[in-house]
Amino acid sequence: MDGIVIAFIAIQAVALAVALAIALSRGRTIEDIDDALREAEAAGGGAVGTSPADDDLADRLRRLRRRAEGAEFALEQRLRDLGYLADLVGVGIVRLSDELRVEIANTAAHVFLRREPGTMLGRTAIEALGDHRIEAIARGAREAGWSSGEVTLAEVAEAAGTTLVVRARRSPILGVWLVFEDVAELRRLQRIRAEFIDNLSHELRTPITTIGLLVESLGRDAEGAQAAGAPVPVKMRERIGKLEVETGNIAQMVAELLDLARIESGGRQLHLDDVDLGRIATESTERLRPFAERQGVTLVVDVAPGLPPVRGEAARLAQVFANLVHNAVKFSPSGSEVRIGVARQPEAVRPTAARPRSAVKEMLVATVRDDGPGISPADQARIFERFYKADRTRTAGGGTGLGLAIARHIVEGHGGVIQVESEEGSGAAFRFTIPVSDAPAAAARG
Ligand code: ADP
Repeated sequence: MDGIVIAFIAIQAVALAVALAIALSRGRTIEDIDDALREAEAAGGGAVGTSPADDDLADRLRRLRRRAEGAEFALEQRLRDLGYLADLVGVGIVRLSDELRVEIANTAAHVFLRREPGTMLGRTAIEALGDHRIEAIARGAREAGWSSGEVTLAEVAEAAGTTLVVRARRSPILGVWLVFEDVAELRRLQRIRAEFIDNLSHELRTPITTIGLLVESLGRDAEGAQAAGAPVPVKMRERIGKLEVETGNIAQMVAELLDLARIESGGRQLHLDDVDLGRIATESTERLRPFAERQGVTLVVDVAPGLPPVRGEAARLAQVFANLVHNAVKFSPSGSEVRIGVARQPEAVRPTAARPRSAVKEMLVATVRDDGPGISPADQARIFERFYKADRTRTAGGGTGLGLAIARHIVEGHGGVIQVESEEGSGAAFRFTIPVSDAPAAAARG
């Protein structure tokens, strides 16, 4: 079972035990019994036979005291046991009072926060946790109910740097629970994977590009020889043509595989800027015009005038257009049109008094429509999955089934949404949204 899940179960159990302990201590059970016992003993005078009723009461109180002591002992054991369980799971657990003082802290929490064993109890959050970012997470949970964050503790003389995921929840009874998970190793492995993919991309791309260029010049040589009256066998020219197509496929496949692997490993961060989505649409389309012309397809771009900039990375957004337009052309019948558009999203959520304009995220919407065979409802639900191809025979040889998965990652990474609308037999319309920049120039408008 996931460590964090076990930790939360442990927390529930510890919370219950603490609630019982608080109830027991608040009722001052044992002290109350002792008071009653003293009164009963004084009334009985301690002498046998003076007051049998009081002596009987004293006996019963002594038995009750023993039971209360047993219950407290069992409770203490249970608390300790749960503390051991939390340590075993390797998750740090800290409980803070409403005033943000440490009431419980297991050994793992001491280790993660580089504290001597047992030194956190009774201290304020900032003293005990030693980091204002973690204290802010605890405060956030006290105010909002929950809060979380990732905190990297720098390397100090005797302790290596570490990265902790901190999750905090307000207890339904009292105070705030904090759970710490050490993710330094996970982050290290993710970095190694990203570096490996980077290196692999270099290693693979160079020979594939060389093969592509060699095949291309082989094709030109064959054409040249043919034109110069030295006939090249038809079979050989066909084979060269096939080599060209397949090399192109491998190059695209490798590029897409590496792209997706990088995006999924978190190795590819977006570098956001204020960018012109209309211009990106136009430029990406122009790059595909020669391909469209070869297929007998006309590309038509329609960008609405006066659009605000969006917050995005131009190269990534260009990749989304390239994937969508490439698909649209690939599936379009010769003689048809592919229409690319960028416009303001018609406001689905209008600003109201309760939801002012500043709280409504304005979006631009980009569309790519074609008159191809369309996509069945069952396939529409799956085409954004990696490696999914709607019709293996129709698309055999071309495409990896990764283009739309990459497009979805990029759009969602920008805070947008990508969707498809299609009826089988009457074309497909892909649509994606990208948030408008929050820059004052854009916000001040209308
Ligand atoms: P591929 O590299 O195979 O094109 P994609 O992820 O880009 O991979 O697309 C996944 C599948 O979605 C395609 O194989 C195809 O079946 C379907 N598809 C994508 N775009 C269109 C379109 N414009 N018209 C019809 N089918 C499409």
